Amino acid sequence: MVMARRFCPKCGSTDKDMYKGFCKECYLETHEVVRIPKKIVVTRCPACKSIYVANKLVPGSRSVIEKMIKKKVETDLFSPSYSFEWEDNRAVNVTVTGSLDPEGFFDVSVSGRVKIEYKDRTCWVCSKKGTQYYEVEVQLRGDPEEIKEVLEEMLGYTEILSRYHPEAELVYTKEVKEGINVYYGYKPIALRVLNYLHSEKGLRYTASEAKMIRYNPRGRHVTRKSYCIRV
Ligand SMILES: [Zn+2]
Ligand SMILES: [Zn+2]
Repeated sequence: MVMARRFCPKCGSTDKDMYKGFCKECYLETHEVVRIPKKIVVTRCPACKSIYVANKLVPGSRSVIEKMIKKKVETDLFSPSYSFEWEDNRAVNVTVTGSLDPEGFFDVSVSGRVKIEYKDRTCWVCSKKGTQYYEVEVQLRGDPEEIKEVLEEMLGYTEILSRYHPEAELVYTKEVKEGINVYYGYKPIALRVLNYLHSEKGLRYTASEAKMIRYNPRGRHVTRKSYCIRV
């Protein structure tokens, strides 16, 4: 939206494109087009450094905190892009770049320093590590050698999931006389592993029993389930 009038009533310049009647600099002096928070509070587990984002647990990293900051930045700019320059783990300089005009005219770049304040909260995963807590039991039955191969697949895939989901660390195994039982502390992880075994390895599983757990660490009722894989 380049206006015909090329005289800024504020600074008197005559050689600039005008935005809403002013040159860009004068317009920005009176309009805060980007609002960057001075501080953000990050709830973090002191033991595993996982971070709670909207009550979801994710492995702690700078990029996760950057996403949190992006959500808190308010901007009137079109097509904003963000860049981050970390001073250390407790402060980051954020630059937001975009245009005042939807057509892409009047580039603007605004920077601000965000302090990161960490609030300690032991995550439910750490509070359950080393206990026998589980939500899903997977029974591996059949030929002992094949069971071992399936177990390796399961634990390998669980390891990969744990890079993105701290809950995947809640896993333990138990040898029983019929085979091996694998216990998962978080049902969605167990289901992803079972689906992986099914779609990638052609293994079928059957659900056997379901039992309600009254109290679980996330404050919701969970149905404890058992599945069986026969090889
Ligand atoms: Zn001006
Ligand atoms: Zn933790």
